[in-house]
Amino acid sequence: MDAYYASPASSFYDDKLSRKFYEQKLRHLGYKPYPNDGLITFGASGTNLCDRQLVFKNDRATKPEKSDDLPFRGRQRRQGTAIVDYVQLDLIHMLKRLGPLASFTMAVRDNGEWDFEEAAQERRVFEWPHPETGELVKFAITAKPDGKFDYVVDGSRIIFEYKTKASGLRAMNGKLDYKGAQDEHVRQVTAESLVFGIDEALIVYESTQKPAWFDDAASTSVTKGQKTWEDGAPRPDLRAFYVEITEEMKHALLSDLARQAALVYEQRTGGEVPEVTVDSTDKCGFCQFTDHCKRTVTDGNVAKLQRAESAMATSSMAGKKEHCNVAKFLEGVAV
Ligand code: SF4
Repeated sequence: MDAYYASPASSFYDDKLSRKFYEQKLRHLGYKPYPNDGLITFGASGTNLCDRQLVFKNDRATKPEKSDDLPFRGRQRRQGTAIVDYVQLDLIHMLKRLGPLASFTMAVRDNGEWDFEEAAQERRVFEWPHPETGELVKFAITAKPDGKFDYVVDGSRIIFEYKTKASGLRAMNGKLDYKGAQDEHVRQVTAESLVFGIDEALIVYESTQKPAWFDDAASTSVTKGQKTWEDGAPRPDLRAFYVEITEEMKHALLSDLARQAALVYEQRTGGEVPEVTVDSTDKCGFCQFTDHCKRTVTDGNVAKLQRAESAMATSSMAGKKEHCNVAKFLEGVAV
C-alpha cells in the first residue's frame, strides 16, 4: 500500500476499472433479508455484543433507539465509510499500477466480481455444543469482508479488514504497539474465517490524522506531544496486523455464540432477559438499547452493580475504565 500511495500514478483512476467497480456497487445496492429459518444470525462484526443487548436486538418488540448524536460523530462515521470505499477502489488498481510489486491482489469471484462487501457476503449455519449443557445449538453467522486477497507469492487467500482511527497518530500507534490488533477485530476475522474457510487475515488500521507535510521534529511552534515526525521519518499512519486463525480461536468463538444463541431462544419461550454485569457495561457506549436497558433493569440487579461500584471506588480500581463504566451505567437508573 505504501508503494502504491507513494507512486504519482495513484492520483489517477483507470476509467475501465472505476466503471466496473461502481457498477458492481450499484448491482448490490438494496436490502437483502436473511432466510426466514428462525435461526439467530450473528453478523461477523457484531459477535461481541453483551448478552442482554443481543437479546434486545433479537426481540421484535424492542426497537433500537434512534436519538440525535453529537454531529462530529456522524461525520466521523461517514469518513470511515468513505475511506474504506476509496481504499477498495485503490486496491483494485494495485496490479495495474504496481505490476509484480503487488503481492496481494483483490480476489475475483467466478462471476467476475471482486470478492468484497455484498458480492462476497455469505451466511453459514452452525450447530455447536453449548459450553455448559453440551446440547447442540443451531445459529448462523453472516459475513461481508472488506476484501479477500490472493497472495501472489503462494496463491493462498487471506481475509482483509480495514479500520479507520480518529484518535490521532500517537494514540493509535501507542495502543497498537501495546496490544496489537483490537480483540473485537480479531473476533470479527475469526467469524469470517468460519464462514469462508480462510485461516489468515490482515487487519489494517489507518489514522485519519496524517503526519505534518514536512518534518516537524525541530519546529518550535509544535509542542513535543503534538509532533508527528520522529528521527527524520513520519510516524506511521497505516499499520497492518497479520492474524493466523487457529482451531482453538474458532472453537472458542463458536462456543460463545452457541451460549448466546441459546439465551435468545430461551427468552423467546419466556426465559429471563440476562442481567447487566460489570463486564457488559464496557459495551454500553455503542449500545442502541441503553434507555430500554436502564428502564427494565431489576432492583436486585441494580443493587449488585451498586455493591460492585462501591467496592471499586475504595480499591485500586477507582477511576479506572471498569469503574467508570459501571458508574456511568448507574447514572440515571431509577432506584
Ligand atoms: S446498555 Fe449496556 S448493559 Fe445494557 S444492553 Fe446495552 S450494552 Fe448491555
